[in-house]
Amino acid sequence: MKVCIHRGTKEIGGTCVEIEAQGKSLVLDVGLPLDASNPDEIPLHPVKGFAAPDESLLGVVISHPHQDHYGLAHRLPEETPFLIGKAAEAILDAAALFSPSGLKLKNVKHLTDRTPIVLGPFTITPFLVDHSAYDSYAVLVEADGKRLFYTGDFRAHGRKASLTDRLIENPPKKVDILLMEGTCVGREDKTYTTEDELVPQFADIFRATPGMPLVWCSGQNIDRIVTIFKACLASKRQFIVDMYTAEILRATDNPRLPQAEWSGVRVFLPDTQRWRIKREKAFDISDSYKPHRIHWNQLAGAATKSVMLFRPSMVRDLDGAECLQNASVVCSVWDGYLEGEKNQWFVKWMAERGLSVRPCHTSGHASVPDLRRMRDAFPDAVAVPVHLQDRQRFSALFRNVRLRDDGEWWEA
Ligand SMILES: [Zn+2]
Ligand SMILES: [Zn+2]
Repeated sequence: MKVCIHRGTKEIGGTCVEIEAQGKSLVLDVGLPLDASNPDEIPLHPVKGFAAPDESLLGVVISHPHQDHYGLAHRLPEETPFLIGKAAEAILDAAALFSPSGLKLKNVKHLTDRTPIVLGPFTITPFLVDHSAYDSYAVLVEADGKRLFYTGDFRAHGRKASLTDRLIENPPKKVDILLMEGTCVGREDKTYTTEDELVPQFADIFRATPGMPLVWCSGQNIDRIVTIFKACLASKRQFIVDMYTAEILRATDNPRLPQAEWSGVRVFLPDTQRWRIKREKAFDISDSYKPHRIHWNQLAGAATKSVMLFRPSMVRDLDGAECLQNASVVCSVWDGYLEGEKNQWFVKWMAERGLSVRPCHTSGHASVPDLRRMRDAFPDAVAVPVHLQDRQRFSALFRNVRLRDDGEWWEA
């Protein structure tokens, strides 16, 4: 078994790993680098089967539906065999109507927790893990008598923490290589606030806001949406989600997650999304939400009794609805977004309207203590870091670490 990390040994995101055995290859993730301005300008990795179809490429695993793991997938040949979770595929498919970052795949095998898939010399066993993306997997890859375990992105303080704990308590044995993410390496050596601990924090902010709390959060961060909904129940406010988010929730096909038809949930259609629906003539989708809609001219009246899921793309809708009196913005994304140059117009927009900004967030990635638990679960393995910035710190924190460079091939 030979391994090459095409990208990801020195950066968070853009991950792509190729594994070769008996002249065949398997790819783990084909991500878009986080700093890429145009996904179509990034050169494709030199993998046979990426630029043109090639029989040696047996599969491309998409560990989870985050763009830094699937963002180049649309550029691979149509017939490329993909392996992805069923709900993850449905989420990306539903997103495609509303966002250029959505994805429709043609040739798919579904990853199912702990169900091995055999592809030529490779046996791939997925393990469902806790992460801020829904339906995220770590994978064990076996070939030529060697075993490689790729953690993908994971954490152990979200709503599915028990999945990660279960993996750590009962990991695959005799693993030779542990490819472990290290996003939070270099940060403080302490555990993080759990999703459940965020519920009262959100509820306190909602109670302290006389007008509409606008929660800036990704429509695909399902764990967080559940957290916000629980805080809405606790503070006796209805939860207004945009139609894109309602579609993502529907795509999970999970009846335990908040859905448009639940009492206490209303669906708003921002102009940018209305325009997409018109252009694609997807009226069956907008019609299906008719009984659950809240219209722009109802927002001001509902402000004191509601919480709205929000993204900066919705500012014109909110200005038009005149619903911002005594409102607040709850920042439930990575706080670096507000510091970025390209979001300064939004900082100005908030300031001009006198909106206070309240952070309420926890990381989508494992804390250093949880990374340590994961590393120690694979005592026989050499640990190779991916998806990180501080590789020197990774070497100092964990035992038996081997740093590899982008594009370097090595024998397992
Ligand atoms: Zn990632
Ligand atoms: Zn991720």
